[in-house]
Amino acid sequence: MSLGAARSTTRPTLTSTAPASGAVVGEFPVHDADDVAAAVGRARDAAAAWAGLGFDDRRRRLAAYRGALARRAHELADLVHRETGKPHADAVLEVTLAVDHLAWAGRHARRVLGRRRVAPGLLAANHAAWLEYQPLGVVGVIGPWNYPVFTPMGSIAYALAAGNAVVLKPSEHTPAVGVWLADAWRTAVPDAADALQVVTGAGETGAALCRAGVGKLAFTGSAATGRRVMAACAETLTPVLMELGGKDAMIVDDDADVAAAASAAVWGAMSNAGQTCIGIERVYATSAVYDRFVAEVTERVRGLRPGTGDGAAYGPMTMAAQADVVRRHLDDALAAGGRVVAGGTVEGRLVAPTVLLDVPETSAAVREETFGPTLTITRVRDAEEALARTNANPHGLAGAVFSRSRARAMDLARRMRSGMTSVNSVLTFAAVPALPFGGVGDSGFGRIHGADGLREFTRAKAITRQRFPLPVDLMSFTRPAGAADALARVMTLVHGRHR
Ligand code: NAD
Repeated sequence: MSLGAARSTTRPTLTSTAPASGAVVGEFPVHDADDVAAAVGRARDAAAAWAGLGFDDRRRRLAAYRGALARRAHELADLVHRETGKPHADAVLEVTLAVDHLAWAGRHARRVLGRRRVAPGLLAANHAAWLEYQPLGVVGVIGPWNYPVFTPMGSIAYALAAGNAVVLKPSEHTPAVGVWLADAWRTAVPDAADALQVVTGAGETGAALCRAGVGKLAFTGSAATGRRVMAACAETLTPVLMELGGKDAMIVDDDADVAAAASAAVWGAMSNAGQTCIGIERVYATSAVYDRFVAEVTERVRGLRPGTGDGAAYGPMTMAAQADVVRRHLDDALAAGGRVVAGGTVEGRLVAPTVLLDVPETSAAVREETFGPTLTITRVRDAEEALARTNANPHGLAGAVFSRSRARAMDLARRMRSGMTSVNSVLTFAAVPALPFGGVGDSGFGRIHGADGLREFTRAKAITRQRFPLPVDLMSFTRPAGAADALARVMTLVHGRHR
């Protein structure tokens, strides 16, 4: 059952407002622990039937869902635009990414998770051995507000394709989008309507979902909340997936296409008002390209206008509190000797596209997630120094390398301490459904997307079946005294020649 606005007569409610205008987008119930338990209970019932459908019937239903999202993309994008403040075109891009992941997850689940036979090995040569990945039952998904479709869908699509039911708790800043996604599911897949449900509310509703006995809790949000989620899940030994914040860096090497790197850095840093977990927040440019890079970035940034109208490059900060974080980081950077070469103003929720130079590595603008349309650019001796500085941050979500040398760029990308790296572009890995998405260090653990994302929402199940008995059963008290010697001789024959 969808727990939409209609039920909210006596219970407390939360109001979602448009960041751009303050207009009310919708009012939603604050679901308490009993509501969450009821939703999880219904999902548990639905999970058995959903898993029982098998891969092909689930694939067909996931296709119906993605078809509905694709046909109603503008309607959904409009809601995302109203609730987050991001431009409609960016919201369409977000919906497209989510639809692509739904397609990949549905199509590849059988190949990745289906039962397969594996080699039994020496000791079990008379057995057949099978591996399959079974669903966990109900997966709880707690989402953030910055990409309210793409981010939860990274868990929802893969969890559903793997045979789980899902209970989604969207951010209290974007409940309307969460409720829309669940309602669209009910309409598109009526015979498995309860396989995707939504509960609305803030942290307490999320905490109730952590304690509701779900098979896994997929959390996307800040590291601070992630710690609380892990602590709550630890009470019931509920496994967790942690998709947390980042402080992604771009490395611009001596031989980079500087104009392309500047263009990518500006998009990576400023789009969605910088409220992107995999947004570029810091750049390390080598001395050979630093001046040209700064000039290119500064010129491009001057052409960007934040706002709410048609020509706006990006919208207001989704939450007023986020503008305060940006202001704090700016003040801190300037106090530490940093220089503003573009932007630097915060008016209400509108933050000018801001470029900072000479900011010490110890300041908040370089160490902490800013989550605003700001970029620090730091001159480094060479790419090795850039990599060392990149890797010194406790976050490790993603990053980018710009270099014309394929071998050099690939080497830097592989040594970057992050879950994902794009070479000569930004954010591209997120658009490749076959690639896993997730971080290291303070950016979390576990993976969504791709084959790893499918396996994340399963448990590996091992089965052996004896095909024929051996004349001598080594795992029996009836084995003859000389069996161990015979076994040692066979082992020496097979493995003993290796030195
Ligand atoms: P947040 O941590 O404030 O909230 C995330 C979610 O957790 C919300 O739904 C919130 O209601 C819920 N929550 C709050 N307290 C809780 C509790 N005690 N128990 C359970 N749930 C609780 O994060 P946010 O401000 O919504 O999102 C921004 C953060 O998310 C940024 O750090 C960003 O980088 C990160 N993010 C990461 C990814 C990724 O894939 N790695 C993607 C998008 C955003």
